[in-house]
Amino acid sequence: MRIGIDLGGTKIEGAALAGDGRLVLRRRVPTPSGDYDAIIAAVRDLVLALEAGLGEHATVGVGIPGALSPATGLVKNANSLCLNGRPFDRDLAAALARAVRVANDANCFALSEASDGAAKGARTVFGVILGTGVGGGIVIDGRLVEGPNRIAGEWGHTPLPWPADDERPGPPCYCGRAGCLETFLSGPSLARDAGLADGETVAARATACDPAAEAALQRYEGRLARGLACIINILDPDAIVLGGGLGRMARLYDAVPKRWSRYVFYDSVATRLLPPAWGDASGVRGAAWLWPEG
Ligand SMILES: [Zn+2]
Repeated sequence: MRIGIDLGGTKIEGAALAGDGRLVLRRRVPTPSGDYDAIIAAVRDLVLALEAGLGEHATVGVGIPGALSPATGLVKNANSLCLNGRPFDRDLAAALARAVRVANDANCFALSEASDGAAKGARTVFGVILGTGVGGGIVIDGRLVEGPNRIAGEWGHTPLPWPADDERPGPPCYCGRAGCLETFLSGPSLARDAGLADGETVAARATACDPAAEAALQRYEGRLARGLACIINILDPDAIVLGGGLGRMARLYDAVPKRWSRYVFYDSVATRLLPPAWGDASGVRGAAWLWPEG
């Protein structure tokens, strides 16, 4: 058995996968806010609870926001700021008294969807997380592209392209800059733009024909289209898969490709924009696969 954990900004999702990739058990707990030791304890307890349900030990892979720096072995670039500068993999390994494997959450998502998900068979895949944070991962020929800085696909902290005057300089970002894509495309950013509590409420109000929510969603779609057009211009992926809470909005898959063509440097865009085949479970599946079979 393999356990995959997806450590998000608001929830920690855990699942146990059988050898054939089948999900046999899932559990979810809220993420302790801003408390590193409590997060380590919550992940440990989630793993132990899954193993109690399974009645056996399993390998443990974890998808986290940010990445482990190859230079220091410490977490960097996490939007759950309390993780930054901490040896998350070593601390969790100590808490569980065994080796664990840790990777970027968007990379786990992209790997899951490229392997046997929505983008199965596509050569070049860009996987996107649109959640509390915004991230991306690149899979080419079934292999994750990581890069010497471990930031391949880290699209959320690039600027919103082709900004309108009222989008400049853009909202401040925790990374120290302003106008990052994350400050426009995360769930909290959409909610702030619409003046509502969260992204799900914006989607629900827009469906109920609330004009303010609808306008905010249309701005969101335009921004997402511009951001993805840049990815298409550089990477030219066969498929782009949208995960995270906002990736559940079905309208994006029709509206965004209609909007991105005017920004892509080609007259007919063949790139497919796809919802995730595994939904919320993609992150945990990709994390579980950090321990390949055998
Ligand atoms: Zn930023």
